[in-house]
Amino acid sequence: MENHHVTQLEIDLSALKHNFHYLKNKTKRGTKTLAVVKAFSYGLEPVGIANELEKQGVDYFGVAYADEGIKLREQGITKPILVLHAQTFNYPLLVKYCLEPNIYSLHTLKEFSSFAKQENLTNYPIHLKFNSGLNRLGFNLEEVDELLKLVTKNQNIKVVSAFSHIAASEDLNEKEFTEGQIHTFDKITTKLRSKLTDPFTVHMSNTSGVINYPNAHFDMVRLGIGLYGFGNDAKETSNLKNVATLKSIISQIRKVPKGSSVSYNRGLITEKEEKIAIIPIGHADGFSRPLGCGNGYVTINGQKAYTAGNICMDMILVNVTEIDCKEGDEVIIFNNQQTVEEFATICNTISYEILTAIAQRIKRVFID
Ligand SMILES: *Cc1c(COP(=O)(O)O)cnc(C)c1O
Repeated sequence: MENHHVTQLEIDLSALKHNFHYLKNKTKRGTKTLAVVKAFSYGLEPVGIANELEKQGVDYFGVAYADEGIKLREQGITKPILVLHAQTFNYPLLVKYCLEPNIYSLHTLKEFSSFAKQENLTNYPIHLKFNSGLNRLGFNLEEVDELLKLVTKNQNIKVVSAFSHIAASEDLNEKEFTEGQIHTFDKITTKLRSKLTDPFTVHMSNTSGVINYPNAHFDMVRLGIGLYGFGNDAKETSNLKNVATLKSIISQIRKVPKGSSVSYNRGLITEKEEKIAIIPIGHADGFSRPLGCGNGYVTINGQKAYTAGNICMDMILVNVTEIDCKEGDEVIIFNNQQTVEEFATICNTISYEILTAIAQRIKRVFID
């Protein structure tokens, strides 16, 4: 069904292109790129984004769950897709849609191997994930010998990559810890190379890894937040272009006399006559409650309009007493990375969560 909502998220494909090439150019020639498009490509829109990145020469896609990969396949995405959190229950679907599982434990390896054998698969691509310090999914160094026994001479599966994930790539205070992770991962891949005859791709870096740890680029890098405009600090972010713009329009403007209460639970009591605008975006859309009561703002005709009272599920109320505006005027929730970072700070979170919280009922529009 077509989306007729007036609140919309504009996705700037030329900014996406810029960010992709900017980050790719930080790696040495021949380094492959995997674009992480999990969680609706960080709350934006995965299919249009994947299409554009395919045109730009991305080598791989990464999604969290099988369904996300299936959606890309159904919409015609042809590049290989790594499913980062492949669940044993979904192995038949993965194979049906030509999706490649992250195998992260002896249990998942045994399950996938027996499934591959039962289905008579040959050389089905799998990716081995190693824990080098994040202590999330992954084999430990001590498990490498046992895992090698299970993969060597196994005709049903083929190890196409070995990867790990850095715990604090954005934080240079953790450099020593991160170098330790890189060293552990090096030991693991050396061991793998000594036993696996076919070459495999080695990868470890997310966006901040690309920026901070050239020694962890290896054969491929996994680009997420950077594609969408966010580096690991203000300087790096300034080299990236803003991809996402969230906008709406004013539904109603009302004058409220001095001494009135505004919005749920009488969050604001006016000290003088105020002009309040009602905007069709609420906490159900990702405009989070901590942004209420004057903490957050939107921009109307170039001026900041701070929230008045509590955020509602489907609406916010903002103070436009000093702003020349009328019903139907455009409202910018954010159109640059700094505002997203500011909102993240107010909400005690990170840009990732602000973006991924943008509700699916908000219309997505591509601009180039
Ligand atoms: C989400 C994710 C990424 C992307 O990280 P960014 O910080 O967004 O670049 C890379 N690798 C793995 C395993 C991930 O889960």
